[in-house]
Amino acid sequence: MERTLVILKPDCVRKELIGEVTRRIQDAGFRIRALKMVSLSEKEAEGFYAVHEGKPFFESLIAFMTGGPCVPMVLEKENAVDDFRALIGATDPDEADEGTIRAEFADSIEQNIVHGSDSPENGRREVAYFFPEHEIAAHS
Ligand code: GDP
Repeated sequence: MERTLVILKPDCVRKELIGEVTRRIQDAGFRIRALKMVSLSEKEAEGFYAVHEGKPFFESLIAFMTGGPCVPMVLEKENAVDDFRALIGATDPDEADEGTIRAEFADSIEQNIVHGSDSPENGRREVAYFFPEHEIAAHS
């Protein structure tokens, strides 16, 4: 079964949308295999988003992601990566399809509620970034 790494970002937590967004994720057929609330250090956020280092929004993104607690989770489903990206919509909520999580809840291209891995390979790497294998449930 395919896995994807999801983060309910600090804006999701601050807006008290953890329950609402998690409900939608489960209603869409994803199984939650691991979940925790963490406050990322600058180093952790920079490591996670290393691919964006040097981009004009990088510093702002790191400040956002370290500005409050967030909720990483491991989700499992067939075709989890693509199906989750479809559920959340485009990075920019103005361009996200109607009914997607970002279209509904996100305030901006940066504060866009949720992260989802963009390939199965990145999913495996990102899952390992947050969760050692023994913290991931085989069934739930
Ligand atoms: P994602 O895969 O849809 O999350 O998008 P990317 O991997 O391209 O970008 C990672 C994250 O950086 C996004 O989810 C946003 O939080 C932020 N981001 C991306 N593009 C921009 C931008 O043009 N401006 C700002 N301020 N933030 C951005």
